[in-house]
Amino acid sequence: MRDFLIVGGGVAGASAGYFLAECGAVTLLEMEHAPGYHSTGRSAALFSEYFGNRTVRALTAASRSFLAAPPSGFADGPLLTPRGVLALCPAGGEKLFDEVLAEGQEAPTPAVEIDAGEVEQYCPIVRLDWCSRAMLKPAAMDIDVDALHQGFLRGIRARGGQVITSARVRELSRSSGVWRAVTDAGEHTAPTVVNAAGAWADEVAGLAGVRPVGLRPLRRTAFLADLPGGVDAASWPMVTDVADTFYVKPESGRLLVSPADATLVPPGDVRPQDVDVAIGVQRVQEATTLEIRSVRHAWAGLRSSVADELPVIGEAPDAPGFVWLAALSGYGVQASPAVGRIAAAAATGTPPDAAYSAQRMLNGTERP
Ligand SMILES: Cc1cc2nc3c(=O)[nH]c(=O)nc-3n(C[C@H](O)[C@H](O)[C@H](O)COP(=O)(O)OP(=O)(O)OC[C@H]3O[C@@H](n4cnc5c(N)ncnc54)[C@H](O)[C@@H]3O)c2cc1C
Repeated sequence: MRDFLIVGGGVAGASAGYFLAECGAVTLLEMEHAPGYHSTGRSAALFSEYFGNRTVRALTAASRSFLAAPPSGFADGPLLTPRGVLALCPAGGEKLFDEVLAEGQEAPTPAVEIDAGEVEQYCPIVRLDWCSRAMLKPAAMDIDVDALHQGFLRGIRARGGQVITSARVRELSRSSGVWRAVTDAGEHTAPTVVNAAGAWADEVAGLAGVRPVGLRPLRRTAFLADLPGGVDAASWPMVTDVADTFYVKPESGRLLVSPADATLVPPGDVRPQDVDVAIGVQRVQEATTLEIRSVRHAWAGLRSSVADELPVIGEAPDAPGFVWLAALSGYGVQASPAVGRIAAAAATGTPPDAAYSAQRMLNGTERP
């Protein structure tokens, strides 16, 4: 028997496993052949302390020191590299722009309004006649997601833990204080199980007879577009608008574009839809001088959230030893060190902040 079973080997489960492996024997169970196959391997790889509500921003800020200076041997190179975000204000968006700017000023490195000349210097493809104002969020960074994820997984193994792939959990039951997971790769037991199954977290709860928290998997599309010949975009910031209706980010000599869509779908291996790619092309061509003639590679992934956009972390009120780590929406990579630590503390008996509790999602709901 192990001390902790973790269901799901994305960045959340990997982070929780990394910190839990300091406290006991961890077995991480991942249904795919590769742990980053779903959301973790499909992100835009941005670290932004300007993103999300105040609690999310605090979780991201609490992750910065780990990401900026990970433990020795965790990764071969830096996990964070400078990027910045340029947020544009289309005509009519001035009220929202002021709100976003005020929020951005609460960040450790405050957002600043910049003029048209500076916009041109930061990113020469922005159409200055499309936007009335602009702000720079200077401290946003690129994250090396694969290095971060692999660092967590390596750390689990180095601390005596197991990472088992192609091990879909199909049954989850508790008897005499021990959880038993029946998987495609055999049976595994432990007194505590962490549900880090991403978009499937409500389904995994269902296997265990635990009440779901109302997770909403939202599909988001991204694709790579070519730059005009001879243009080097490596130093450009990510460009977006204050209403978050699109973003463009330099990526390996090309531009990563997203229409910032959020379509409710069942959990699954989601694929990009032509209409979403077309919307992304249109929005970017309105805001910039970029002419997208062909799309190189398109993909989609799931950002799963609950109604208040906060994570769900902590022991299920209706199931002792069943710990939630879910609903990480669009910030699961950047906040992974903090949420992994909180989940590990919850799995070892420290009640997390009530703001993250599964109980808040269950109030007023009936057992199905
Ligand atoms: C297009 C896009 C852009 C994004 N950009 C960013 C960004 O810039 N910055 C950021 O921080 N975040 C970003 N995100 C969000 C981020 O990717 C997620 O918040 C994060 O990856 C969630 O991690 P996770 O481990 O919870 O989920 P996942 O990575 O999906 O991991 C869950 C795992 O559980 C496994 N699983 C499910 N059911 C079972 C089962 N029954 N048995 C065993 N295993 C199971 C799945 O196979 C999966 O590997 C973006 C997401 C998308 C889609």
